[in-house]
Amino acid sequence: MGKQVYPVSPVTGPGSAKSVWELSPEPDVLGHLLPNSPLSGHASLHASQPTSSKSSPRGRRPCGPDRPDDNVYADEAGPGSNGPTTDETRRVFELLRAGDIEAIDALVEKSGLAILSVRDEWGYTPAHWAALDGNIEVMRYLIERNGPVDLSCLGTQGPRPIHWACRKGHTAIVQLLLKSGVAVNAADLKGLTPLMTASMFGRSATAAFLLGCGALGQLTDINGDTALHWAAYKGHSELIRLLAHGGVDLQRPDYFGSTPLHLACLSGHLSCVRMLCEKGKIELEPRDKNGKTPLQLAKSHRHAEIVKLLQVEMGRRDRWIPPLNELWALLFGGAGNSKGPLLLFMCSVLLWGYPMYLLKCIPITWNLLRGSHYCFIYWNIVMWISWIVANRKDPGYLPQNSDTYYRAIKQIPYFDKWKKRNTVLSRLCHSCKCFRPLRAKHCRICNRCVSYFDHHCPFIYNCVGLKNRMWFFLFVMCVAINCSFTLYFACYCIAIEGIQLLYVLGLLEALFFCGLGWILTCTSVLHACMNLTTNEMFNYKRYSYLRDKRGKYWNPFSRGPVLNFIEFFLCPSDQYANDSQHYHIFHDDMMSL
Ligand SMILES: [Zn+2]
Ligand SMILES: [Zn+2]
Repeated sequence: MGKQVYPVSPVTGPGSAKSVWELSPEPDVLGHLLPNSPLSGHASLHASQPTSSKSSPRGRRPCGPDRPDDNVYADEAGPGSNGPTTDETRRVFELLRAGDIEAIDALVEKSGLAILSVRDEWGYTPAHWAALDGNIEVMRYLIERNGPVDLSCLGTQGPRPIHWACRKGHTAIVQLLLKSGVAVNAADLKGLTPLMTASMFGRSATAAFLLGCGALGQLTDINGDTALHWAAYKGHSELIRLLAHGGVDLQRPDYFGSTPLHLACLSGHLSCVRMLCEKGKIELEPRDKNGKTPLQLAKSHRHAEIVKLLQVEMGRRDRWIPPLNELWALLFGGAGNSKGPLLLFMCSVLLWGYPMYLLKCIPITWNLLRGSHYCFIYWNIVMWISWIVANRKDPGYLPQNSDTYYRAIKQIPYFDKWKKRNTVLSRLCHSCKCFRPLRAKHCRICNRCVSYFDHHCPFIYNCVGLKNRMWFFLFVMCVAINCSFTLYFACYCIAIEGIQLLYVLGLLEALFFCGLGWILTCTSVLHACMNLTTNEMFNYKRYSYLRDKRGKYWNPFSRGPVLNFIEFFLCPSDQYANDSQHYHIFHDDMMSL
């Protein structure tokens, strides 16, 4: 299987949506348009917003189990506006909806292929109804007979069949349509792409499928809203997770200045607010065009739980002394891409530590402490070798564009039969186009998935993963040992020469790196003995495989401290990447198809 396994439709650029949102780029005009729109399923986010020009709270749509998708007629177009319908036309639609292909075929023989292009009194084509009903046979028939499968409805919203299939989560229909050449980013008249429609209705499997087929998450509708805005507004936190994994900007404002967080607070979806706060460090107090922050919106709509959550989160961030896990993030490298820690380390060793050692320490102590000096030099050589290897070595990147990913994407249309589909969906990385084994994670800084992701280390400026973890361990251990020697030398110099500013500074600096080195060494040993990565250690609550049935911490990988420790150093690098145990969920489900 090659990279091209997936038929990606020819129009994948933003152009397909652009033509629509270029129609009316004025947010104010749109704000006026939307509240009067007869649409409700695809209805405007902003009809309900205080930000829009019509901001009466009465216009606010009810949130929660708001599923207008069973009432498509009422939603999207008014009957009677699309010319007369003949009996024959009515008959075609009846037969289509009944799925009676033989009868349709007979009708086509009698009246010609044009009968497949007719529209009903609402302006829909036969393909629309096949898509809505999820009738694969009918859709296949339409495609085989060259019936139109990508026409917009004549109603206000102008949805295409692919939008209806996404709305209902009929992924198999989406697959057929894409194969027949429909653009994966095809927009309706409001600029809604199939991905946005799937996000709006919480169809995570369909959305994952679309992402796998090249759907772009950053496209916007006529209000500047992305799929993520829609997912946040409609309360589909699992879609937020999916889109975040697809590399979508989490805090992009729409034309009203609303970020996804604003919309989740507005509509009162606690799980979405939590998910957004969890995913990366998004700004908590951005202001929309009316100067409102998400917290103010939540307050004015009386979403007490959201207000509480946001206040707790803000309090946590405002604390003067960061909590333990954030201190840890400083040591282990936070989400940033800073070269600061690396520069600090290099400068203090090369510009300060070594000159001091050569010019001050050696002349005084060489003859007295010769054995210690040999050890110190030896450990320095080891330190630099391990630093170079840890920095240069592939930490265990998973292959991109993997066959497993495309196989999984291909299986999504049949996901309804999958018991653990969410587990599988959450393990697809749409950035790397790979299927992540357990314990692998996508590193935002390297922008690659790393097997056995431990953390992204700012001191070695590389990820720490399966293939370089022992080199990282060796490096931090060398730092700890060398700094201990430095302390020893500095004390000796002070004892001989008396207290001097240079020695005291050297002592303090060595103390800092020595502390850091031993903390990192000890935690590395601890993690190795527990068979746990740093990432799992701090986020174990997020990983279901680290919990037993009662929700308590339980590590299925641990084989006792000694074996774990040996395995940390000796495990052959590829054993885990290809271990079927790590794919078992996937394989089990594939078997059961
Ligand atoms: Zn990835
Ligand atoms: Zn990384």
